[in-house]
Amino acid sequence: MGAHLSRTVAEGLAFMQIVDGKPVDSLSGQRIDVASPSDGKVFASIPASGEADVDRAVKAARRAFEEGPWGRMPAVERGRCLTRLFQLVEKNGEELAALESRDTGKPIRQGKADVTATMRYYEFYGGAGDKIHGDTIPFLEGFTALTLREPHGVVAGIVPWNYPLQITARVVGAALAMGNTLVVKPAEDASLTALRVAELALEAGIPAGVLNVITGYGRDAGAELSAHPDVDYVTFTGSPLTGTAIQQAAAINNRGVTMELGGKSPQIVFADADIEAALPVLVNAIIQNGGQTCSAGSRILIEKPIYEKVAGALAERFSKLVAAPHDADRDLGSMINPKQKERVEGYVAAAREAGVPVLAEGSIDPAAPSGGYYVRPALFGAVDPDAAIAQEEVFGPVLTLFPFEGEAEAIHLANDTEYGLVAGVWTKDGARQHRVAKKVRAGQVFVNGYGAGGGIELPFGGFKRSGHGREKGFEALYDMSATKTIVFNHG
Ligand code: NAD
Repeated sequence: MGAHLSRTVAEGLAFMQIVDGKPVDSLSGQRIDVASPSDGKVFASIPASGEADVDRAVKAARRAFEEGPWGRMPAVERGRCLTRLFQLVEKNGEELAALESRDTGKPIRQGKADVTATMRYYEFYGGAGDKIHGDTIPFLEGFTALTLREPHGVVAGIVPWNYPLQITARVVGAALAMGNTLVVKPAEDASLTALRVAELALEAGIPAGVLNVITGYGRDAGAELSAHPDVDYVTFTGSPLTGTAIQQAAAINNRGVTMELGGKSPQIVFADADIEAALPVLVNAIIQNGGQTCSAGSRILIEKPIYEKVAGALAERFSKLVAAPHDADRDLGSMINPKQKERVEGYVAAAREAGVPVLAEGSIDPAAPSGGYYVRPALFGAVDPDAAIAQEEVFGPVLTLFPFEGEAEAIHLANDTEYGLVAGVWTKDGARQHRVAKKVRAGQVFVNGYGAGGGIELPFGGFKRSGHGREKGFEALYDMSATKTIVFNHG
C-alpha cells in the first residue's frame, strides 16, 4: 500500500492526490466516495478538487517545467525515468490489477491485461523520446534552416473511467518522453490507479511536479483544468459532448488539443471470410471491458449468403455470456456506475420497443451482489441502419448485426455513422482487403483481426466525430510537441 494512502475507520481507504511530489487532500477538504461497481459498496474516497486545487497543480507543473531538473534533462535520461516506471508497474502489477478491477468492476484478467499494456506504454515511450528529431531544410543561398521538436510545456490530461491505467499511461508516456510536465485528472469514477502510478513515478526518479494527478468531478476540476490559462495543451479521451466542452474551454486560451471521442466501429464479414477465426474476435471486440471501450466493435456487417450462419453462431455464443463480479473473472464484469447501467438498459429497452429483433441475451451470475451495476449482454439483428442503436455509442455489451450485398454496400454501411475510430475487415481476397481498408473512414483498420485498444506502437485516433489528433506510437510524440524552425543567415 502506497504512502499516499491512509486508512480511516469512517472512510475506508482515503486516497490523496499527488501534487508537486507530495500527497495532498483537496484544499476544501471535500471528498468523493468511491464505490466498487461489483457490489455498489463504498470502499474508498478521493479528494474533490476545485479551482484552487487545479491552480496549485498547474503552478507545480509550470515550476517543474521552467525551473526544475526536468527541463534540462536529456531525452535519454527522461526515457530512463519512464523505463524505471515500466519496471515499477511490472513489480507492482498484481496490486495495480486488483485495484483497477475493484475500482472499475472489470474482470481481474482484464485488469491484468491492462497492466501489461500499461507496462508496454512506459517501455515504448521510455525508448522513443530520444529517437524523435527535427530536419534540416534546403533553403535560400547563404541560409541554413533547421527544425527542433519542442515540448508544449504544461499538458493537461483528462482521462475517462474505462481504462484509467492504460489511458493514463498513453498520456504520461508520450507527454513526458517529449519533456512536457503534466496535470492528469482521471475520472471521478475511477481515479485510484492513476494516483498509485503518480507515486510510482516519484519512485522511478521523475522529479516532483512533473506528473501531478488531481481528482475531482469533471464539471469542477476537469472544467477548471481545461480552461486554465497556464495550461499549454489539452489531451482528452471521453464522450463527444464533453470533448466539445473541453475544446471550447481550451479555445478561450487558443490552446491545442488532442481529442479521442469514441466510436461506433464496424467489422465487415465477407462471404469468403474464415468464419471460425472471426467468431471469437467478433464477440470479444464488444464484450471486452463490458463494451465500455471506445474502439469496441459494436456493429457487424455480414454478407447476405452467410448472414444466417454467422448470426446463429454469434447468438449461440452470446446466450452463454455471463456478467459477474470482477473477482469471479467471468466473461464481463459490471458497468462503471448506475448511470451507465441505466443508459445501456435504456438503449436495449428502446430497441426492443421499436421492434428490433433480439437474437440472444446473456445472463447475470445469480450469485452477483444485487447492489452491483450488471447488465445482460444483448445481440440485435437485423438492425435498421438508421435506428438509434445502430448509430449511437451505447458503451455497453450490445452488438448489432446488419446484412449487406456486395462491397459497395458494405463500405456505405461501414461509413454511415458520425464516428470513424476503428474498423475490421474479414475476407481472404487480397485485392478486396486493400480496397476496403482504404475506403473505410477509420483511424485504424484491422484486416482479418481486430484490436480494441491494442497495439501501443500503432497510431490511434479518429475521423469525424471520433475526434482528432493521434495517440500511441511515434505519432503521439508529434502531438505532444511542437515544431520550432530556426533560420541562420550566414551570408
Ligand atoms: P465524460 O466524457 O463526461 O468523462 C470523461 C472525463 O471527462 C472524466 O475525467 C470527467 O471527469 C471529465 N469531464 C466531464 N465533464 C467535463 C468538463 N465539462 N470539462 C472537463 N472535463 C470533464 O464521460 P462520462 O459522462 O463519464 O460518460 C458518458 C459517455 O461517454 C459514456 O456513456 C460513453 O458513451 C462515453 N465515454 C466514452 C469514452 C471513450 O473512451 N471514448 C470513455 C468514457 C465515456
